[in-house]
Amino acid sequence: MAKSISCKDAGADCGWSATAETEEQLLEKTIEHVKESHKELHVSPELYDKIKSLMKDV
Ligand SMILES: [Zn+2]
Repeated sequence: MAKSISCKDAGADCGWSATAETEEQLLEKTIEHVKESHKELHVSPELYDKIKSLMKDV
C-alpha cells in the first residue's frame, strides 16, 4: 500500500506533500524536504516518529 504525507497535516504553513510506495521511501523524501525547507526543525528520532505518525495509506 502506498503512503502519503503533507506538511499541512503537521500544522506547517507549507503546501508540500508527497507519496511513495513504502514508508521508508516516504520517510527519506520527507527528511530531504525538512532539511531543505524546514531548517528550524531538528532531525531527531522524535521527528522520525512524528513523520511516521502523520503518514496516511493511499
Ligand atoms: Zn514543508
